Amino acid sequence: MTPLFRPQPVNDPFGDPVVYVDFLFERRALLFDLGDLTPLPARKILRLSHVFVSHTHMDHFAGFDRLLRLCLGRERELTLYGPPGFVDQVEHKLAAYTWNLVHNYPADFTLTAAELHADQSLQRACFHCRTRFRRETLAPLVLHNGILLDEEGFRVRAVLLDHDIPCLGFALEEKLHMNVWKNRLQDLGLPTGPWLKDLKRLVRHDAPDDTPVRIHWSDHAGEYERTLPVGQLRDTVLQIVPGQKIAYVVDVVYHAENARRIVELVGDADILFMECVFLTGDTERAAARFHLTARQAGTLARAAGVKRLVPLHFSPRYSDDPEALRREAEAAFAGDDA
Ligand SMILES: [Zn+2]
Ligand SMILES: [Zn+2]
Repeated sequence: MTPLFRPQPVNDPFGDPVVYVDFLFERRALLFDLGDLTPLPARKILRLSHVFVSHTHMDHFAGFDRLLRLCLGRERELTLYGPPGFVDQVEHKLAAYTWNLVHNYPADFTLTAAELHADQSLQRACFHCRTRFRRETLAPLVLHNGILLDEEGFRVRAVLLDHDIPCLGFALEEKLHMNVWKNRLQDLGLPTGPWLKDLKRLVRHDAPDDTPVRIHWSDHAGEYERTLPVGQLRDTVLQIVPGQKIAYVVDVVYHAENARRIVELVGDADILFMECVFLTGDTERAAARFHLTARQAGTLARAAGVKRLVPLHFSPRYSDDPEALRREAEAAFAGDDA
């Protein structure tokens, strides 16, 4: 299976936790957390369409200025998501600069900020560069099950977690992944073409098996048309596999309710990016700072049936021995430390 997304941490594990998710078949990307973006080249930052901010401690939000600066003067739209209070914080960031000349810019940049509340409401505002980023409140949305973004091929879900303050954990789920058996198309005498996109959309929306799919094509010898039912095409020319799931959880304290929410959110993820801030010997310190130890992270990843755990957000106190954190997380993930 060729996955749709390629996720990658932007910084080393002692740097700010930021995960860049590139789309393999589009010039587009998503970002989880908005800390230090220094290693990212401008062209990669300009691919971002949506940025998911767990909370606004500086190590998760200080990259806002670089992002803003690159987007200014470009005809672009960008949406940022965060926890309660986030829209005000974005407004305040924007209010820290002077915008007397921006109404002359040839292109408008539009920033939308949205914050998820415990009652599943998504409070939103947008800010246009041309109008000096004056806040325009948008009608709130009521979400279902924390789904912030629901597109044709994927969705992004968030849950509110406890970091002394509300902090969001995220899961990006590709919907059904459909590959086309080209040899079977040939056997049926059918061409590739845009109709395959229609077929995939119908399958994704659970269209009844007898829904007709019209296939129209031409070659040097003439024009052709055939109509076949969705069910038959699905069963012969498509290979349907579950999509990729990528999860991101940082800055959370270890307690039963957080653990329950995390395991539910990240269940069966192909890749989980998770903070492993302290070693077990520093469990009290971890609790006092509302962070996880590497063992707690590994235990949660194991309980959730995650396939691969990528540890992030190491405390600088272990800069001499980052392998100790990795080993501890791995052992707990493998179930070796009971
Ligand atoms: Zn934090
Ligand atoms: Zn942090």
